[in-house]
Amino acid sequence: MALDKKERWLDLFYKQFAPLKTEIQNLQTKLEANRKERRTLEDTLTTKEEVEELLEGLRTGAIQTDPGKSYVACYFAKQVTSTDIVKNESAKPVLYKQCPSCKDIHPVLMSYEQTFDSPDGDNWQKKAFIICPKTLTVAVYGTITKDCRF
Ligand SMILES: [Zn+2]
Repeated sequence: MALDKKERWLDLFYKQFAPLKTEIQNLQTKLEANRKERRTLEDTLTTKEEVEELLEGLRTGAIQTDPGKSYVACYFAKQVTSTDIVKNESAKPVLYKQCPSCKDIHPVLMSYEQTFDSPDGDNWQKKAFIICPKTLTVAVYGTITKDCRF
């Protein structure tokens, strides 16, 4: 008799905590959604910061003493081939492409920078791209890398 009474009491005791499992599941679901949202925000921020950096590179490209060495240097692109990306010396847009985001026509830019610096070997990179002013995103059209300035 005494044992039955004890089990009943425990049953009632545990019943009070019945919502705990649901509460934990709800929090886990919320947290996972939050993590996804955070990752999306971080990705979006990275993209916007990249746009900012490229625009800054375009502003300073022509006046950098050793273009691309310390900061990315950007220019308007004159020609994009499979072996090279050539800047337009007159610093004006001459080459245009349709934007994959908004379908408008935007000028093609190019970046030039050292992406790797080591005693064993360096890496220099030219990249052709457009920046969409409507979506503030970058669409890359070609990348060329070499182990020295070019
Ligand atoms: Zn666009």
